[in-house]
Order: sequence, then C-alpha cells, then structure tokens
Amino acid sequence: MLVLVINCGSSSVKYDLIETSDNSDVCKGLIERIGAVTSIVKHEPAGQKATKDSKNIANHVEALKEIMNYLMNPENRIIESPSDIKAVGHRVVHGGEMFKDSVQIDEKVLEAIEQAIDLAPLHNPPNLRGIQAAMEHLPNVPHVAVFDTAFHHSLPPEAYLYGIPNRFYRRYKIRRYGFHGTSHYYVSRQYYKLTDKPVEQTKVISCHLGNGASVTAINGGKSVDTSMGFTPLSGLVMGTRCGDIDPSIMFYLVEKEELPLNNLHALLNRHSGLLGLSGYAADMRDLITEAQNGDRRCQQAIDVFCYRIKQFIGSYTAVMNGCDAILFTAGIGENAPLIRKKAVSELSYLGIELDDARNEAVTRGKIEKISTDASRTDIYVIPTNEELVIAIDTAKIAQAASQSPWI
Ligand code: AMP
Repeated sequence: MLVLVINCGSSSVKYDLIETSDNSDVCKGLIERIGAVTSIVKHEPAGQKATKDSKNIANHVEALKEIMNYLMNPENRIIESPSDIKAVGHRVVHGGEMFKDSVQIDEKVLEAIEQAIDLAPLHNPPNLRGIQAAMEHLPNVPHVAVFDTAFHHSLPPEAYLYGIPNRFYRRYKIRRYGFHGTSHYYVSRQYYKLTDKPVEQTKVISCHLGNGASVTAINGGKSVDTSMGFTPLSGLVMGTRCGDIDPSIMFYLVEKEELPLNNLHALLNRHSGLLGLSGYAADMRDLITEAQNGDRRCQQAIDVFCYRIKQFIGSYTAVMNGCDAILFTAGIGENAPLIRKKAVSELSYLGIELDDARNEAVTRGKIEKISTDASRTDIYVIPTNEELVIAIDTAKIAQAASQSPWI
C-alpha cells in the first residue's frame, strides 16, 4: 500500500512516501521555514538526486500543496494522481492518556488531539494543522494518527506517577508520558530479530540521542520506564532542553532574574542543554570539533551529556534487574563513536564492554554490533526509522477499515 507519512513541526513539514508491500521509500522531503520570507524545499525521490529550492510557503496547507504538486510534476511523475496514495499517517507527539495505539482520525480523535494541546502546547498544534492540511488535499483516504506517547502506555504507576499530591494526577493527568515511542519501539524490534532469546525474557535499554534525546527501559517488549516525562523537557540533557533539574532552580531564577514565566519556558526549552552549557552550539558535531580544539565548556557539555546517559543505563539496569542490550540510535547515537564510548565507559561491573575498533568502524545507516564478544550485554547501533513504523501502522489500520466499517 502506498502511504504518505507526514510529520509537522511549527514551521516545517517532513514527508515520506512509503510502499508498505516491501517497506521501500518512494520519495521523501522536507519543507522548512514555513511562513518566513523564503522557505526551503527539499525533495528526494528514491534513486535520484535530491533537489533544493527556495520558495514562498505561507502555511501548512500550502506546504502540502507543494508536496502534492511535486509528486505529480509531469516532468518527473512519482504518482499519477492523488488517488494513488491509499492512506496518510501522521506523527502526533502527545496522545495524552487516551491513545494507547494508533487510530484512524475522525471528529472525535481530532477533538481529543486538540484537548491534548494543553499537555503539548509546542507540538500538538502543528501536528493538528498538518492533519487538517493533508485532509484538505487528500479527503478520500483514511488518515491515521500515530502517537509518540503510545508505546509508553505500559509504564507501571510507580514509574509514571510523580511525588506530588495525587489529586493533580486525577484532576489534570499530570504524570510521566514519555516520547520518541515509535523510535524506541522500532529499534527494539530490530534487536529482537538479531537475538535468539525470546522477547518476553529480553531486557533492552534504548538510547535515542538526537537533538531531542531519551532513554527507555524495555522489558519483555514493553516500555517500563523512560527518561522524558510529562513533557519532552525532562531526562537527558538535549540540544537546547535542560533535561532533569531540581524544580527549585525555577523559583530561584524567577526571584533572582525577575523572569516572567514564558521567558523561563524559553530558557529551559530553547537556551539550555548543550547550547546553554557550552555557550557555543546545540549541534554535537560543532561541540566535538571545538572540544578537540581545546574549548573547555564544549568539553564539559559533552561530559554532562554522556554522564547523564550513563546514569540512566545504570538506573534502568536496576529497574529491570539486568540488561541484555543497549541500543544507540538517532543523529548522535548513530554517528558519534566518541559519545557512545563515553556513555558506556567503565561499566564492566554491569558486564558492559565496548569494542573500540567496532565502535569506530560503524558504517552509516547499518545495524552494527559494537560490544566485545565477551560482553554480557550486547551494544548495537541501530538506525531508527520512525516513518516506517508510522507507515506500517497506517497501512494496517487502513486495510482493516476497508474491510469493516466498524473498525
Ligand atoms: P537528529 O535530531 O536525530 O537529527 O540528530 C541531530 C543531532 O545529531 C545533532 O546534534 C547533530 O550534531 C548530531 N549528529 C549528526 N551527525 C553527527 C556526527 N557525525 N557526529 C556527531 N554528531 C552528529
């Protein structure tokens, strides 16, 4: 089935056209800086050279129109007509407590995603705009929402409840939700294909290290704890997000700096993390280069980033009473041997031993084992593919919907 996968940010639309009969990428692309004077439009049809243009794209509806026009461009047709696309899958960041699985989008689902805006004010509004824009351009096919939070619905109460009065959970659903669920799900499933151990007995720690970063403990195929929480702000130190901090720091800063609340929000979400620590960059490549040139603050930012990953590995090994495999994925996890090495250094007590040569020799885009053969815990680099998970879920739901109007 030909499925269009859409992932909308506040000023961007990422798309991926996937044929689910053989899981192949047909065409993908990215429109950035939507609403700015010039937007950047990239298209990458499989097996062809990518194109990059500057255009004026005012909103998400125009972005979807640009994507459809490109796919049907008579000079390089990728599809003949919109009806070639059989379903559309949408990444939705926050499904609240309501959505434990992906669902076909109808009025009720749209309402529920809207209600979850309260929980994810930065993410759910652009996701909704993307859904509405895609429905305008492709009104006659099923649209499916795939939630970043869904995989973490298996967390037990001791992992998802915070130590605040319980009525705030009952009244406002304040709890740990967790994010990057499709990525943690995907890489763990890739690992299960490599091991003989039955899934029910397998304990995995998955480290999604990109600009946003999170670690998840997966026991018997289910997420049992994860580092992101009520929002994607907690847990690891990230590109620009602070990760876990003592909440008292916020009261202290409000008092000392006379910070209004929305500035505090921006400070912790957009000016902290690697960027804040280094005072230089959020991008790990830049930090590594500068640290190698002797910049002490860039080196410290890297040290804090890796130390926090190591803390979660230790903590989740305790949570699961063991760990069969540590998986690294996303931009940093897949491409930065230095970070992987620091994150798992001196963990031999837990039976975790990195093979330096294998770690350095990882081929981009490939699944590679990087632990020694003697290591009690496997360590793997597994490239993530969230779009494929969304496409497969979407095809399954669209297929079922075509067979029964009650599903
Ligand atoms: P993502 O959000 O998954 O696209 O990951 C973005 C992050 O991956 C940025 O911090 C990049 O600097 C980092 N990254 C990408 N390639 C490399 C690389 N070769 N070495 C170190 N970091 C990288």
